[in-house]
Amino acid sequence: MFKQRIQRVAESLSASGNDFIFVTPSADLKYLTGYEALPLERITCLAINSQGHAWMIVPALERPAAVAAKVEDSGIELLDWQETENPYAKFMDVLGCVEAPLVNNLMWVEKAWKLQEAIGKPVALANTVLSDIREIKSAAEIEALHEAGRAIDAVHNQMHLWLRPGRTEREVGRDIADAILRAGHETVDFVIVASGPNGASPHHEVSDRVIGANEPVVVDIGGTMHSGYCSDSTRTYVCGTAPQQYRDYYAVLQEAQQAAVEYARPGVSCESVDMVARNILKDHGLGDYFIHRTGHGIGLETHEEPYIVSGNRNLLREGHAFSIEPGFYIPNKYGARIEDIVTCSATGVDNANNTTHDLVSL
Ligand code: ZN
Ligand code: ZN
Repeated sequence: MFKQRIQRVAESLSASGNDFIFVTPSADLKYLTGYEALPLERITCLAINSQGHAWMIVPALERPAAVAAKVEDSGIELLDWQETENPYAKFMDVLGCVEAPLVNNLMWVEKAWKLQEAIGKPVALANTVLSDIREIKSAAEIEALHEAGRAIDAVHNQMHLWLRPGRTEREVGRDIADAILRAGHETVDFVIVASGPNGASPHHEVSDRVIGANEPVVVDIGGTMHSGYCSDSTRTYVCGTAPQQYRDYYAVLQEAQQAAVEYARPGVSCESVDMVARNILKDHGLGDYFIHRTGHGIGLETHEEPYIVSGNRNLLREGHAFSIEPGFYIPNKYGARIEDIVTCSATGVDNANNTTHDLVSL
């Protein structure tokens, strides 16, 4: 599998007129090699050339970890550098002449600069060379995302155990984090418990605010599974009964989210999915309160291509995986969001999150 991925990167390099790509520890490196190296000050770096040859240089003390990750099984030539050596110069001695190099977008600037110096040519960002490959998921990746979806659904389904008036967001958040791990995730990536006016801030995490009766609470949670794939799902709860106006707004949001899910399919543009949700909110006077894009791709990272945003004219294709998460945020009052991860099949999308989309009264 990793050999194939490296081969596809090589083809993509040829197509873009580049001869090398350099990749430091990141989701990109994990995707290409299976090696989950830590992003440390000592450089670990994969190089792939347009003929499909691959090398990886690692600090000598990390060599056992790279060997254990079986990078050599994918045909990658493993080199190491000692504490007193210059790893950049050593790498270039092996690679020889490099003419038009790319670096992965998340390479530390420090490393990109030192690489550039050693190569003697400007390095350019990989941009879509890697994301074009990563954004189309295989059947196994789709299944891993659905497995992650089932795990986070199991957490949402237990919300009544923790969420109640008189507790703080932080207390509830801690219980949710424990449950995310119990549900099969390896790490907790984020826990948002946004009660009452805090719900108007989309990326509020938790605070010491005490949750009150009859106020909406936005709960957006996610983690990373053992497979490396991420979950991300938002539901909105209320302990008691939300105000009538809020319930009316929520009904519009629910319609908008559902319409976007039903509309999404291969062949439609990313921006048109955003428009479907946004237009419904706009038609009901909520357009100004929907202050973010409709969604983001998901895979080994929670946020990756494709972005479901105005201006992205790229077409959805089978194998795309992304969120559909419209919301409304009314300053100093309250907010709401409904978020599902969906995966593109040949004819539509399959939902990875299947808990109720209703405003859940606890
Ligand atoms: Zn989310
Ligand atoms: Zn999301």
